[in-house]
Amino acid sequence: MSAALAAILTACGAPETSDSVETPAPSTDTATAETDVAPTEAIDLVRLYTLDCGELVADQTPFGSEGEYAGQTADMVVTCFLIRHPNGDLVWDAGLPDMISLLPNGQDIPGGKLMVPVTLQSQLTDLGVPPEEVEYFAFSHSHFDHVGNANLFAETTILTQQAEVDFMFGAGVESGVVFAELVEPMRDSNIVTFEGDYDVFGDGSVTIVPATGHTPGHAVLRLDLKNSGVVWLSGDLYHFVQSRTEQIVPAFNFSKPDTLAAMAAIEARIEADNGRLVIQHVPDHRAELPALPGYLD
Ligand SMILES: [Zn+2]
Repeated sequence: MSAALAAILTACGAPETSDSVETPAPSTDTATAETDVAPTEAIDLVRLYTLDCGELVADQTPFGSEGEYAGQTADMVVTCFLIRHPNGDLVWDAGLPDMISLLPNGQDIPGGKLMVPVTLQSQLTDLGVPPEEVEYFAFSHSHFDHVGNANLFAETTILTQQAEVDFMFGAGVESGVVFAELVEPMRDSNIVTFEGDYDVFGDGSVTIVPATGHTPGHAVLRLDLKNSGVVWLSGDLYHFVQSRTEQIVPAFNFSKPDTLAAMAAIEARIEADNGRLVIQHVPDHRAELPALPGYLD
């Protein structure tokens, strides 16, 4: 995987790292920037906007650990989300790097291809919430297809588990599954870490729930929406519908036992919630959500 990631940056030009940049303490409750984009709309209910963060064709073999997908090729989507709450905006996952959009035929990787038809930055700006006005950024985990545009959110408040911070600036990079250039912009950010459930806005509507195993600090997101009920966003707890029905663990997961335990724990909570699980890499799951500028609330 690291060779593939290196190829991306070689093709697109590596992003700047923030080694000498002083990051100011972010403001979490006031919008201070001059707004020459669409004025911020007053939000009364929590809204879930689904963002297109790319497409991915990949050798499916590593997504199993006992030959479940051997020799198959997977067509996947990469999905990010904007959650608008009366008290702030949260971006969940940051997709493939926007710079891949500059490559008309996408970026070839061994056994597959990466494509970014529309940038995350442009989608947020079109919604009137440009990245610099987002209050919170949280990511399910630090693999390249979930933090590809983390640089856009370096001055927000970043929410993650300490285990993921340790992994993405240490063992993850050393083992080649985390790409240093993509996470480095967050090194000097205001990172708020937590253990157990993290209730982002304090009212139970948006909760980050640890589901470790894919990486040491992997998490999923639980949304309690007034009209749409409880929606869970999978991160990479599962990559495919079959992964869920058969509890298939990718060979490259950090811990298979932890992954299986997380699957069991999250499934129990989804059932208790009568919730809906959106598997972020499944094309049909993304297609079933409202297209922009539509949203669930
Ligand atoms: Zn992924």
